[in-house]
Amino acid sequence: AGRRSAGVSVANVSKSYGAFKALDDVSLTVEPGEFVALLGPSGSGKSTLLMMIAGFETPSSGDLLVKGVRVNDQPAYKRGFGVVFQRYALFPHMTVAENVAYPLFRRGLRGKEVEAEVAKALDLVALGALRSRLPAQLSGGQQQRVALARALVFKPPLLLMDEPLGALDRKLRQQLQLEIKQIHRQIGSTIIFVTHDQEEALSMADRVAVLEGGRLQQFGSPRDLYESPASAFVADFIGETS
Ligand code: ADP
Ligand code: MG
Repeated sequence: AGRRSAGVSVANVSKSYGAFKALDDVSLTVEPGEFVALLGPSGSGKSTLLMMIAGFETPSSGDLLVKGVRVNDQPAYKRGFGVVFQRYALFPHMTVAENVAYPLFRRGLRGKEVEAEVAKALDLVALGALRSRLPAQLSGGQQQRVALARALVFKPPLLLMDEPLGALDRKLRQQLQLEIKQIHRQIGSTIIFVTHDQEEALSMADRVAVLEGGRLQQFGSPRDLYESPASAFVADFIGETS
């Protein structure tokens, strides 16, 4: 756990939109280097919590701490976390390599240094051979790998992913689940991974945080959740599969 993996604490965080509470008194701590899944049904507040950690939303009450420092009012670019969304949002007119280089150029890096880091990031996602293609010439899975490389290229201490595999078919999703776990082992960054898929969360994460109706129902290892699920969302899934 060095610069490349930051922990984050969410302390009694609530988020209201008018009278509606999207998050209700959520507290959890993600340890440096840990792979945590945020799991819950649609509308349970997963994206709201992730965007808050990224710095795109501010809490209505409660605190966010990174390495023990309160960051409630720190803008996203200063936090410097990597973010991957379900829709890849690649620049269509730029090649794979240019898309991946973009965050480095924004940070003022140039020349050989950029080339070397881009090559490393493309190696991680096995896309070196496609570096000169345009996004439109790639499959959905390949485009999502480019988005992942673009988020990894500046070695973020925390990587935030919001349903990154949601647009992919089942087989490709399983393949990318394995690849993301492998990448996590290689780079050691902290990862927070949002999904509404119980199997995905339970198979990928060190610990799973279960949200329902904006409330944290349970935060534990996959084993804890299988042995004593504290939410209908997980209990129903285990009931169906056992
Ligand atoms: P999830 O990602 O788990 O599907 P979200 O965090 O996107 O859930 O949303 C949680 C709830 O908050 C939903 O009911 C959603 O409609 C509501 N919500 C999210 N963003 C806003 C907003 N900007 N204004 C009003 N309601 C919102
Ligand atoms: Mg969402």
